[in-house]
Amino acid sequence: MPEITSREVHLISRPKGLPEVSDFEVTPIKLGPLQEQQVLVRNLFLSVDPYMRGRMNEGKSYLPPFELNQPMEGGAVGEVIESRAREFKPGDIVTSNHGWREFFMAPAKELRGVSRDIEPLSVYLGALGMTGMTAWAGLKLGEVKAGDVIYISGAAGAVGSVAGQLAKLMGCRVIGSAGSAEKISFLRDECGFDSAFDYHDGPVVERLKMEAPEGIDVYFDNVGGEALEAALSSLRVHGRIIACGGISGYNNAKPKPGPCNLFNMTTKRLTMKGLLVRDWADHQSEFEKEVGGYFKAGQLKHKETVVYGIENAVDAFIGLFSGQNIGKMVVRLRSY
Ligand code: NDP
Repeated sequence: MPEITSREVHLISRPKGLPEVSDFEVTPIKLGPLQEQQVLVRNLFLSVDPYMRGRMNEGKSYLPPFELNQPMEGGAVGEVIESRAREFKPGDIVTSNHGWREFFMAPAKELRGVSRDIEPLSVYLGALGMTGMTAWAGLKLGEVKAGDVIYISGAAGAVGSVAGQLAKLMGCRVIGSAGSAEKISFLRDECGFDSAFDYHDGPVVERLKMEAPEGIDVYFDNVGGEALEAALSSLRVHGRIIACGGISGYNNAKPKPGPCNLFNMTTKRLTMKGLLVRDWADHQSEFEKEVGGYFKAGQLKHKETVVYGIENAVDAFIGLFSGQNIGKMVVRLRSY
C-alpha cells in the first residue's frame, strides 16, 4: 500500500463563546505502515455534535477535554481499506470514534462492523447511531407511555426528531419547538408531530399554554434556558423531565442562573432525570432491534443535513449553534 496522507482536524485554541474557524486547523499527516492487528479505515461520514463543544473547554466535564494540536474524536462511518486483524477485511463498513479525519489506523476492538445494506450509511451516525439511541434511551428513562403529552425542544434536530417520532409510535401526543418555519413543516408533515411552533415567535410558555392547555406530562429537554422554564410551568402534577441537553447555554462563558420557577419541582412533585447515552451501552442490541425495525419498516424517518468535505467540517459543527441543520448534521467525505 503506498504511503497515505490523511487530513485531520485539530483544535488549536480553546474557544471563548461561539467557536470560530480560527480555533481549528485542518492538517495533513502521513500514516505509517499498518501494524499487526491493526485496520486501516477511510472515513466516509463524520459526525459533528453539540456535546463536542464541552470537550473544547479546559477541564473535565463528563468526558476529558480535547487535547490541543491533536485530532479531535467523534463518531464516524468508514470503509476498511486494509486489514491485519482477522475480524475485518477490505470493503467492510465500520463505525468508530475516530472522526474528524480522513483515514486512520486502529486495533479491531475500536471498530464496530455494520451492515452495508442500509442507505444512507450515515444513518449509523443518526437514527441508528448515537443520537437515535439518545432519543430512545431518553424516552425509556422518562418512562414515557401511551397517552402522555410530551413536549420536545430542539425537536427538528438529530435527537429531537427521532424522539418525537418514537413517542408518536408509542401513542403519545407530541409537541415540538424548533427554530424556523421549514423545521416546523418538517415536524408536522414528515415526522407526524401533533403540533409544533417556532420558539422565536413569542414566549415559549405562552405557546405551550396554547398547544397544551391542560399541561404536559413529559418534557424532553435538548435546549435548557427558556424552554426548560416554560416546561416547568406547563408540567402537570407528577410530570417528568428528561434532561438530555442544554444547547442554549453551551457557549456561555459563565453559566446563567437556573430556572426562576424551579419550585414547581416541589409543588407539582416533578421528577427530573439526567440522561447520558453512554450509560445505555448494554442496551445496544435492544435499541438496534426496536429502532432498526422501525427504520427498515419505513416507520421512522432519518433526516440529515449533509456538508461535503473535511475542510468544511468545522463550519458544519459551528452551524449547529445557529440551527443550520434539519435532522442529523453529517459531513460526507467521499462516495461509496
Ligand atoms: P441537533 O441536531 O438538535 O442540533 C442542534 C440544534 O440545536 C440546532 O439545529 C438548533 O436548532 C438548536 N439550537 C442551537 N442553539 C440553540 C439555542 N440557543 N436555543 C435553542 N435551540 C438551539 O443536535 P443533537 O440532536 O445532536 O443534540 C440535541 C441535544 O441533545 C443537545 O443539547 C446535545 O448536547 C444533547 N445530547 C445529549 C446526549 C446525552 O447523552 N445526554 C447525547 C446526544 C445529544 P433550532 O433551529 O431549532 O434552534
